Amino acid sequence: MYDDDDDDGVDNRKPSHLRPFKPPFRVEPPAATAPAHAGQSAATTTTTTAARKPTQAGKAEDVHPRLKGIDPELVERIENEILEMGQKVTFGDISGLAFAKECIEELVVWPVLNPQLYSGLRQLPKGLLLFGPPGTGKTLIGKAIAHECNATFFSVSASSLTSKWIGEGEKTVRAMFAVAAARQPSVIFIDEIDSLLTQRSADENEASRRIKTEFLVQFDGAATTAEDVILVIGATNRPQELDEAARRRFVRRLYIPLPERESRVALLKHLLLKNASDVSAAELEELGDLTEGYSGADVTNLAREAAMGPLRDVMRPVGGAAGAGGIGQKKGKISSDALRPINRQDFAVALKSVKPSVSNVDLGLYEDFNRQFGTQKL
Ligand code: ADP
Repeated sequence: MYDDDDDDGVDNRKPSHLRPFKPPFRVEPPAATAPAHAGQSAATTTTTTAARKPTQAGKAEDVHPRLKGIDPELVERIENEILEMGQKVTFGDISGLAFAKECIEELVVWPVLNPQLYSGLRQLPKGLLLFGPPGTGKTLIGKAIAHECNATFFSVSASSLTSKWIGEGEKTVRAMFAVAAARQPSVIFIDEIDSLLTQRSADENEASRRIKTEFLVQFDGAATTAEDVILVIGATNRPQELDEAARRRFVRRLYIPLPERESRVALLKHLLLKNASDVSAAELEELGDLTEGYSGADVTNLAREAAMGPLRDVMRPVGGAAGAGGIGQKKGKISSDALRPINRQDFAVALKSVKPSVSNVDLGLYEDFNRQFGTQKL
């Protein structure tokens, strides 16, 4: 990762592992973060680490003590591929999930911003498990946590550790925790954690067994000093497959359920701000009823499908059969102003093709797991 937008007159275009890091134990003041619930800015492309620029050019000998012994090439690959560079997400961008947000604020945001208050009985939580159906906002929550805490955010899927990082998964895990230690406060988000920490099976191969062992060793070793602020968030759609050792490490386990009716309406409203629309408040409420059982991702797909209605009207006017005149028939450039607003009828059409993706059987499994192992109301 390179920083080239400094105005300190210093050439920072060198791998960041060769540059000095800020002292790892300093926590960014909250003022450095964007205001919470500020709403997502599509134009935001800065990284979660943008505020953590070094103030002077680094030299090879300035390697951070926590990175000693770690292959610099691996460090750089992690900085390029695992350090999240995407859009900033705030809790305001996440519809519903009031209980999860409240827990996260207390369990994560407060401690990360004020680690000095967490001594004695008040221990910094190290592991947080987010479980629930796919497409309910678990990844969004991970991103929002990193943003609200102004933490460095590492995002990796467990399956990519075994596939993409072939032969290097174990070293990658070690290096990732080292970089996280050097760039604290850090949030390591591991998607599909179940595929890394499933109950041991006979056909488990040697490589994935070693990655799993290394992960557990690093997890236990992370944030061993009082000042360390490294949080591991695991997300899973299959919590029942986690073994007991994994469950024990993720001390807090938060159920991220399907959105309630009110949250679906709020999400639709939020999504419809992105394009011209003509859907009344009463129609939105009705759509809230019609989307019973939809996940946040399903609702998003539904709105995207509905948004195609006005486009189809222009590209394929009534009476024009599909492909009539040849696919890709030249229409010339069409301005977005020429499109009519998205309306209720577009949703009626979209509802026929976009259906809920989570079955009742699966929902029952999540609810069982939540009753047995989930963190209940604080
Ligand atoms: P998962 O729970 O599988 O990690 P994601 O967080 O990746 O799900 O959500 C997938 C997409 O669905 C998001 O990018 C977002 O567009 C939409 N989405 C899901 N849940 C919500 C929510 N609660 N609020 C806003 N958008 C959501």
